[in-house]
Amino acid sequence: MAKHTCAICGIEVGLMSEQKLADGNFICRKVCSKKTFKNFDKVSATLGDVTAHIEQIEKGTRIWNELLLPLKKSKNKDEKLKMMGVGGPLLYASPSTGLVALVETRYKFMVFGKSELACVYRIADLMQYDFVEETAKNSEGKEEKKQYCAMMFKDTAGMYGFRLAVSGRKEYESIAKYFDTLFGIQKTLGNSFKNAKRQMDAIKSITNTVKAAAAGTLDEAQAAETIGSVDAYVHGDRTQWIEKADAALAPYNK
Ligand SMILES: [Zn+2]
Repeated sequence: MAKHTCAICGIEVGLMSEQKLADGNFICRKVCSKKTFKNFDKVSATLGDVTAHIEQIEKGTRIWNELLLPLKKSKNKDEKLKMMGVGGPLLYASPSTGLVALVETRYKFMVFGKSELACVYRIADLMQYDFVEETAKNSEGKEEKKQYCAMMFKDTAGMYGFRLAVSGRKEYESIAKYFDTLFGIQKTLGNSFKNAKRQMDAIKSITNTVKAAAAGTLDEAQAAETIGSVDAYVHGDRTQWIEKADAALAPYNK
């Protein structure tokens, strides 16, 4: 039987003690695998993804403990964290800092001396929050439906996407509405004036860009402006969320 070594700590591993990564590297199950989140997909991750994810947890756990956890107990309504999800890990949104934290609780294995591990993201980088429903067999062989909010963050090293288990469609909808509201995205027709104007602006600039492209006069600035206005229509205005998060993260990004 071929022996491998853990690409992170160098220990010798075998069939039962190794975890194979997408790029053919192996890591040990006993120590290094446990440094990652349970919902981190190691099978499709490269060694670079795994080490970036471990760094993300080290930094995120520090931010969680120093900055966000104290706000969890805050009596100030504006500073309070909003908890989402069921089971674990749970997601905590912190509008006052522009951050969200995915928090996994460890009861036995304590990697960094704390029982909670966290990945922290900028709210501004949240690109997708989609509803996912899956049917799986439970331990008694019965089919069970499980619901998730599938979240994806841009420009994020490590775990940039995950599924947050939710109690059902209702909880998903309240999460989607929460973020839509933060980003000023209005999906209801009743409140459509601002929406319609934004849509018109987006369409206008697409049309102009298409004309310019046909005439061969399209320049980079014009193309960037089009992407910007379509982006603002789809993703809302994130300026204040970028500013808040960058101010909160400044001490951690040195
Ligand atoms: Zn190892």
